This record gives sequence, C-alpha cells and structure tokens, in this order.
Amino acid sequence: MPERYWLETLGCPKNQVDSDKLAGTLAAGGLTPADDPSRADLVVVNTCAFIEAARQESVETVLSLADARRDGARLVVTGCMAERYGDELARALPEVDLVAPFGASLTTTAAPTAPAPVAVALGAKPAPAGPAERVPDFDLLNLARPPAAAPWAYVKVAEGCDRTCGFCAIPSFRGRQCSRTPEAVLAEVEELAGGGRLAEVVLVAQDLASYGLDRGGVRPDGPVRGAARPLVDLVRAVSARVPWTRLLYLYPSALDDALVEAVLATGVPYFDLSLQHVSRPLLRRMRRWGDGERFLGRIVSIRAAEPSAALRSSFIVGYPGETEEDHDALLEWLAEARLDWVGFFPFSREPGTHADGLDGQVPAALAAERLRECSELQDAITADRRDQLLGTTIEVLVDAPGEARSVREAPEIDGVVLVPRTLPVGSFAEVVVEGAQGPDLVATPAPAADRAVATGVGR
Ligand code: SF4
Repeated sequence: MPERYWLETLGCPKNQVDSDKLAGTLAAGGLTPADDPSRADLVVVNTCAFIEAARQESVETVLSLADARRDGARLVVTGCMAERYGDELARALPEVDLVAPFGASLTTTAAPTAPAPVAVALGAKPAPAGPAERVPDFDLLNLARPPAAAPWAYVKVAEGCDRTCGFCAIPSFRGRQCSRTPEAVLAEVEELAGGGRLAEVVLVAQDLASYGLDRGGVRPDGPVRGAARPLVDLVRAVSARVPWTRLLYLYPSALDDALVEAVLATGVPYFDLSLQHVSRPLLRRMRRWGDGERFLGRIVSIRAAEPSAALRSSFIVGYPGETEEDHDALLEWLAEARLDWVGFFPFSREPGTHADGLDGQVPAALAAERLRECSELQDAITADRRDQLLGTTIEVLVDAPGEARSVREAPEIDGVVLVPRTLPVGSFAEVVVEGAQGPDLVATPAPAADRAVATGVGR
C-alpha cells in the first residue's frame, strides 16, 4: 500500500500554491493523500510566519497534529516559519521529526534535474521525467502541481520581494524577487486548464505588479523599459486562456494606466490595492509610496472607466508614530473611498524590521481601539455596497454546491454568493440577487429573459 500524506496549509494564497506544488511532488514520489491526519504516514505543516498571531496558530497546529498523528508517522514542518526560525523551531518542538525550509535557490533558470531537497526530506522519491522535466534543482515555483480541485486556482508568478517596507520581514526570509518566465507561468495555466474545468486563475506574488522587472534588472519603482510593465503582457496572455483572470496584491505606484486597462480588459474589474495607510508622513515611515489623495485619484479614475469595479485593500493600524490625526485621516479617507472590501491589521512588531527600531510605538490597547473604529465604519460601507446589488442580475461562477462568486469576490478572501445547490459546480450562471447574509449575497437563477441582459463578463 502506498504511503499516505496529510498536508496542512496555513497563511496566505501564496502558501496554498506552495502546498499544491508539494502535493504534486509527493504524488510524483508515489504518496497518496490521507483522508484524515491520524491515518497518514507523513504529516506536513506548511506554516505562516507573517505576524505573531499567525506564528502562534502555526505552532498550535503543529502541536495538535503531533497529538493526532498515528504512532510512527513522521511530522515535518515547512513554510515560512521553517524558513525564518528553522533552528529555533527544531529546538523548541521536539515532537517534530524534521524542520524543512523550502530553502535552496529559487532560480528559474534551467538546471540539472537533481531531486528536490524538500522532496527527499519529506520522504518522496524524485519526480520522474516528463512533466517534471522543467523542474530545476529546488524551485517550488516551477514544480508540477496536481489538477485544480476547484474551478479556480492560484498561480504564483514570482517569489520574494525587492521592496523594503518598514513593517515587513518577508524579504528577509523569502529573498529578493525572482520572477518565473512567462512561458513557465503560461505552461502551468495550460496544464491546470487542461481538463477544461478551470474557469478562473488568480495571479499572486509578494509584489505582483513588479512581476518580471527583476528579469530586466529593474527595481520595483525604476523606469520600465518598453511600453508597459511585464505584468501587463502576462495578464493579457493568461486571460486569453481562461474565462476569468484576477490579480491580488498590487502596490499602488505600479497601478498605471496600462495595467488598469489590462485588468479591465480581462472582464474581471477587481483591484486589490496594497495601501497600508493614507497619511503621507506615516507612509514614509513605512518606507512606502503615496498618500491618500493619490490613492483616491486612482480609485476615482478606475471607477470612471468601470463603474462596477470592485476594490479591496488592507491597512495597518497602530504603526509606530501613528497620531490621532493620522487615524482620523484614515477614517475620513475610508468614508470617501467607499471600498468594497477592506482588511485591517494591528501593527505587529517584527524583530529585525525597520519598524522594530522606530520610536512612537502605539500601545496595543490604543491600536485595538483604532482598529475597532475602522472596522465598524468599513463594515457599514461594505454592507451598503453589497445592498446596492439587491435586485440586480449578476454573473457568477459556481465554486461548490450552493456557493458561487461574481467578479467582485475573490476566492477565500471576500464574501460569496449563495445559490441553489442544483447549479453545476464549475459553471457560469446568471442569477438575481435577492438578499444578503453578513458579507454574502443570496441569489436565485435569473429568468431566461433576464439572462440576455445580465452584466457580461468578458469570456
Ligand atoms: S511589498 Fe512590502 S509588504 Fe509586500 S512583501 Fe514586499 S516588503 Fe513586504
């Protein structure tokens, strides 16, 4: 009987892609997924080290799987915590058999097909020749992955980041940005779409809009040679292969006219802007570009081009030096911008980052209070934006029985559209929005006459 594995994934969409690739490698090595961690021979936890709360969740997950595993099963910890705290983690968690950083190089250049170190570490055999031929040494980005389990899939186009945001430790353990070639990305999209079931590709990277700049030796905010940044061409090429293409995590200075046009041309007018704050002095302390006025100007122009555009962003509350005026400016800005979806995060003091050494640390209780104020305001705006859709006909993609999304909802991040379970998974349908439940919409199939006038999605 083949060995069975259990793979637990924590953290962001980028980690989910890494797990898919590990699953592909384990499958190529002859392992099969277990239906429960207690029946696995190998338990792998792909951890997140983004902020303190994520680290705590990762450790708790490791400890609970250590209890749940059967006698003799190996427990391996990988992912960002293994990258960032490898030795410390190994010492602190004697229950773990192996702490295996993804480590090694993330080169995208062709290299001899030596077995991937992590695959060996996890107990898998080397991947056979064939689809895995383009696997270099240990390049998670370019490892083969299993077919998508849902009608949508994340595709990671780069690893690492060349920016130096004051609060962020990611570049210290994920390294400089290393973009895949367009050919490698498109080959993965085609492989995933091969069965004809894939309806949506969600492009992700630490700094997505900087995709490809490193290959031309350009810094994130440096001059882009030629007509447009490489992401523009990539978006066009991906959207020619799947009905919906969605982009996550766009640094605001990179959102130029060409990129906005390329996003709108996909038929998925969804903009996930990584703004973090609106106060100019505070943004400079964060070592980031922009200010609220510039951000608002961009949002207004996007909405002028496409009134139905959906906008998401995330903000850090309580960054060192954040004053009451900064906080008020954020509240005012939120009220004016009226974004569809917003995530607020309390500042987390990360050892080794620029912000760790800054004066003006905001007391946790004050940061929590500010976060509550922001959330309450935004919850009302999100509900209002949602209610504007009541009675309208929208197109949705059915993700699972009874659960769908329109272009305004990114998978796993925003709300969903609850639909009758009879709608086939993987299909597109026109539905009438009849109600709301929290952040979610409730809809029923549109009468045939309405379907012809439903809001179209470029397909
Ligand atoms: S863009 Fe800034 S926040 Fe995002 S990964 Fe890079 S350094 Fe971190």
